[in-house]
Amino acid sequence: MIAVAANYCPECGRELTTIEFEGRERDHCPTCERTWWRQSVPTTSVTVRDDDRVLLIQRADGPDAGRWDLPAGHPEHDEPGREAAARELTEETGLVADPAALDLVGTVLAERPWGTNRSINYRVDRATTDGEVTAGSDAADARFVPTAAVREGDVDVRPLGRRRLRDAGVLE
Ligand SMILES: [Zn+2]
Repeated sequence: MIAVAANYCPECGRELTTIEFEGRERDHCPTCERTWWRQSVPTTSVTVRDDDRVLLIQRADGPDAGRWDLPAGHPEHDEPGREAAARELTEETGLVADPAALDLVGTVLAERPWGTNRSINYRVDRATTDGEVTAGSDAADARFVPTAAVREGDVDVRPLGRRRLRDAGVLE
């Protein structure tokens, strides 16, 4: 399985052909007689609610630097989703959450130049977290923002962040 659109076989280097299977074109290596299934890459987010405020981070680098989103990040290949989400929350905002306390709210797909992200989205109340909010790695800023300001577009939340906030019920 691969996450990117591949032209060559990751195993033997031969140029890939395509075969049709179950109604879709699949990348295939005639030498290895192997089909390379295309997969999305998991990422996670956490919505922390504190009454009528929601915790956002300002992205420090990468695509959409300077814009706002939920605390989020990719799981390690062998890391459960809840643990990854809780780890990213702490790394980016300083808040500590018990992974078991995170409620799954949904998933959204996001196209990227190299492939597709599948964001697995969780929610937790501020009252069940510990620590103080301070911007950490990957975050230029981290703060609780009034949900009304997010709804009214006063905060520049990037498109994936808005979809995650809809998943969590913050936006309609
Ligand atoms: Zn091959």
